[in-house]
Amino acid sequence: YFISSEGPEGAGKTTVMNLLGKKLKDEGYDVVMTREPGGIMISEKIRNIILNNEHTMMDSRTEALLYAAARRQHLVEKVQPAIEAGKIVICDRFIDSSLAYQGYARGIGVEEILAINKFAIGQTMPNKTILFDIDPSIGLERIEAHSNREKNRLDVESLAFHERVREGYLSLAGQYPNRIQVIDASRTLEEVLEEVYIVIKRELEI
Ligand code: C5P
Ligand code: MG
Repeated sequence: YFISSEGPEGAGKTTVMNLLGKKLKDEGYDVVMTREPGGIMISEKIRNIILNNEHTMMDSRTEALLYAAARRQHLVEKVQPAIEAGKIVICDRFIDSSLAYQGYARGIGVEEILAINKFAIGQTMPNKTILFDIDPSIGLERIEAHSNREKNRLDVESLAFHERVREGYLSLAGQYPNRIQVIDASRTLEEVLEEVYIVIKRELEI
């Protein structure tokens, strides 16, 4: 079973999904937690190239191709073997990040980003995607409050960029209503976790 979490930084995806993973493990589920871009050595190296804040001159198509390359390696090396072994894979970001950030917000176009990602991932799509929806100004405020966070090249982007990311995500949720579940991430951690837990349990019990 394959679950991805999506949304902007500061929405709480990583924290909430880690808590969800723990809860499911305690109940006896075999859970693999992983993240994109990264998750395995080659893809973490690609992540460092993309997100290095000295690389602000990186061409947006180069960026899109690097994300797709990191995604493929992570998928074949870690995600697919775990799914085939019957595990639950919970992945922090997947294809919708590319569609929202590079397709919509950077303006490359969703169709083109979808095409390179189909090349990268074939038929493997998440069974369920949790979209942590939040006003980007709240998300950015939350990040400011966590001074330990590493700076990356996305930090130079405007609020308008992050507004476009949100629009992109919501448009994808409208397009794939069965796969993408939108969650109001402006609430407390406990409330968000509770809702995500209910959604995922319902899926796993089918
Ligand atoms: O979720 P995480 O903080 O690990 O993401 C790292 C950075 O990569 C974030 O700034 C995110 O906005 C950016 N990103 C992106 N395009 C993607 C995936 C992530 O710009 N396709
Ligand atoms: Mg995170």
